[in-house]
Amino acid sequence: MASIFTKIVSGEIPSYKIAEDENYFAFLDINPNAKGHTLVIPKREENKLFDLSKEEYDGLMSFSYRVAKAIEKTIPCKRVGMSVIGLEVPHVHVHLIPLNAMSDIQFIEKVKLSKEEFVELAEGISSNFE
Ligand code: 5GP
Repeated sequence: MASIFTKIVSGEIPSYKIAEDENYFAFLDINPNAKGHTLVIPKREENKLFDLSKEEYDGLMSFSYRVAKAIEKTIPCKRVGMSVIGLEVPHVHVHLIPLNAMSDIQFIEKVKLSKEEFVELAEGISSNFE
């Protein structure tokens, strides 16, 4: 069965898209740790990060680099943090999170955003993606 994230790539489940290319897709996390919390995935479904081929891993990291640069340009923060967990969704995803405090990377405190805020964030980050 297709993962939630495969359904997001196909458009079956809506998302606040940031960017995509042939192999990778970036979108806002629906339950963000902080404003601008973004997920970057390979379109090809794989459960665990280190089960990706070296080539696909490198491609995911290069794409994440470009997304992180766009987040930095858009969201005021001390830095963009990166984390890979995957205990909830078994489809590889890189969390890119604007950080101002240690708690922003701890997946405990969440930020509630309106649809309008999600749209504005996605459009802002997307417009800075190069
Ligand atoms: P992990 O698997 O790394 O523990 O966490 C999965 C992440 O995916 C969580 O941060 C969660 O909020 C996010 N997530 C789960 N389902 C959806 C969804 O349908 N849409 C979006 N945009 N994010 C999701």
